[in-house]
Amino acid sequence: MVAALFLFLIQTGCWIRTFDASARPDLVLITIDSLRADHLELYGHTRPTAPNLLKLARAGVTFKHAVAAAPWTLPSMASIHTGLPPSRHGATSNQSSIGEQHPAVASLLQASGYQTRAVVSHVFVGSSFGFARGFDDFNERHVQDHSGSSSEVLTQVALESFNAAGDGPTFLWVHYFDPHYSYERHPEYDFATGRTGRFGDSIDFESPNGTELLGVSAAAERYMTDVYDEEIAHTDKHVGALIDGVIGAGRDRGVIFVVTADHGEGFLDHNRFGHGRDLYDELIHVPLIIGGDIPRTMWGLSIGSPVETSSIATTLLQFAGVEEHTLRGMDLFDTALSRSSPSYVSSEGSYARGTDQRQVSVERGRWKMIQHLDDGRVELYYRKTDPGEQNNIAGDPKVAHLQADMRAIMDTRLAEISSPGTAPETTPNAKTAPAQISEAEREKLKALGYLESEGASDAVH
Ligand SMILES: [Zn+2]
Repeated sequence: MVAALFLFLIQTGCWIRTFDASARPDLVLITIDSLRADHLELYGHTRPTAPNLLKLARAGVTFKHAVAAAPWTLPSMASIHTGLPPSRHGATSNQSSIGEQHPAVASLLQASGYQTRAVVSHVFVGSSFGFARGFDDFNERHVQDHSGSSSEVLTQVALESFNAAGDGPTFLWVHYFDPHYSYERHPEYDFATGRTGRFGDSIDFESPNGTELLGVSAAAERYMTDVYDEEIAHTDKHVGALIDGVIGAGRDRGVIFVVTADHGEGFLDHNRFGHGRDLYDELIHVPLIIGGDIPRTMWGLSIGSPVETSSIATTLLQFAGVEEHTLRGMDLFDTALSRSSPSYVSSEGSYARGTDQRQVSVERGRWKMIQHLDDGRVELYYRKTDPGEQNNIAGDPKVAHLQADMRAIMDTRLAEISSPGTAPETTPNAKTAPAQISEAEREKLKALGYLESEGASDAVH
């Protein structure tokens, strides 16, 4: 009977499976570094960069407007795992890790009987920053600097780890890295035809002054985005192999896949390359797809309401049947079923090298306000008519009423950030733990541009 329930029905272009609500499903969280949503066909891109994500979405739920908690890896991923905003979990600089007082989804799943396994490819999601807690098996042997490709080996070791799990329910997290700069050609996808070489070594992606980069020619910029698309396609191929492998394992329980990104990537949309500071959509609008053994009635659903990726932890716990927990965040399936949705979504900008240039964004519908905490600047965008967030209409008397509404939301959010006692985010930022970074990891962070080079201070500034 069980075998029949989990019969994998191969149909054109979909992973179609049956749904058994009685068993606790395996849970597979796939995070892809630096993947902006609008470079996927699923989110309107004109190129077939990610056919496997499209395939997953055909029998899954796609959240069209998912917002990352921060524009760089560490704080955003810490929010995905703890359900907390960066100002609460405190992992907001390259010197800080997730505080031990914050329960993470892996620990809660482990305590409820799940086997927990992870394969990661970035220092910022490694054990030094608190991400290994709650995992029975945590593989960070394939963490790399900005060169080379790791997707294939990650998929291989992730499947080995998954297949080594016992019969009980298993949580597997895989963090892919290849769309992160520098970008390397994968000529089999042919998006950058006739051009060769790696793009990115000559550019300081973390330059505090983006205008220094405006000398890059349009052709070079185009080449960079073309190669970025090839990196996405290369990663998607191996994500597809992971999904195939997990389904093909033929375990006697269902499986839920959640795919998202830690943040996006800038290509001079707002005068900067890379990521790390700003809260514009190219940096915080990320893909979010839930697929696998979900009810047939939900196949192909596309959800327009803005949601936060920090709700993923709560959603995974709901799938696992863990209802007694204190994690913040909504069950995204409730949102998909229109039973609940956040009244607004928020993101926080901090910077790996220090705590300057902090920003907070709030979004409701198509409206978005960004508050710069250091100098008080405010930006307001109406993305229905200005999807690229190029026309700051803060102060425009024609939108005074809506600006007042967004101001009230922003003030609420800022009050939460500055009031550590606000339930359920009960732990003050000040209690965060320093990261325990090894010499080898320091070298990797330097290579990625997150630490100053020789002779400069690594201290937070
Ligand atoms: Zn990242």
